[in-house]
Amino acid sequence: MMYSRGGGSSKSDVVDRRRIINDALDKQLEKLSPSTSRAKDKDRGRIAVPSSSTGKSQLDHRDSRNSSLSKNKASEEEAETDSEESDVSGSDADDTSWISWFCKLRGNEFFCEVDDEYIQDDFNLCGLSSKVPCYDYALDLILDVESSHGDTFAEEHNELIESAAELLYGLIHVRYILTSKGMATMLEKYKNYEFGRCPRVYCCGQPCLPVGQSDIPRSSTVKIYCPKCEDIYYPRSKYQGNMDGAYFGTTFPHLFLMTYSHLKPQKAVQSYTPRVFGFKIHKP
Ligand SMILES: [Zn+2]
Repeated sequence: MMYSRGGGSSKSDVVDRRRIINDALDKQLEKLSPSTSRAKDKDRGRIAVPSSSTGKSQLDHRDSRNSSLSKNKASEEEAETDSEESDVSGSDADDTSWISWFCKLRGNEFFCEVDDEYIQDDFNLCGLSSKVPCYDYALDLILDVESSHGDTFAEEHNELIESAAELLYGLIHVRYILTSKGMATMLEKYKNYEFGRCPRVYCCGQPCLPVGQSDIPRSSTVKIYCPKCEDIYYPRSKYQGNMDGAYFGTTFPHLFLMTYSHLKPQKAVQSYTPRVFGFKIHKP
């Protein structure tokens, strides 16, 4: 489903290809990190970049995590591909933008739609070209720009570009949701409980906000933050649970609650007391 625009193929094909693409994307990212480390220094204040030595071990580590994740994703989502394919195939009349399409994919519900204008302003994308492989193609895809290069690629390369577009969109998104316009969009989603509610009983269904545990892509999945108990939880949907936390970042919910301070709930006072036959358990 994730890449249903790509065309039809059997389940095992998709799984295999996703693995190949992820490996290719990782290789591209590895290639990018040492050569561009100097250029990246400028961005260091914004997003921490791993040094090439620690970065390597992280790459290896997430390699295994990611390929198993994407395998699940591919096979779970494949089921939907067939039905959707018929709508999409050959219809150029389809006027949904890539961004709306992408944000409506199952598991991508936490994403808000980033304004075209924001993406078209080069200033807002500063530093991203060194972090995303096939950057120009990925950007064209996100903005629905017909490739000006007139190239046609093998399907594998197209899927690499789609993966890169996903990464690029996430990296733009994490910046956008800290702007006033982006935050207002996230506010609407928050009001509609789109990020889920706190599972803790004494938080009484408090709506949550998405948060990352790291600002480095592919180091951890997105979590939800409860403003009442001030703790983080796994999203309820396993599809949402596969989303990269760096696409939301470590700052968002906290800056959001500083901006909309009237939304910050009273801290949870009630807490659960374990009892045995009605007696509180003695703690030494
Ligand atoms: Zn809570």
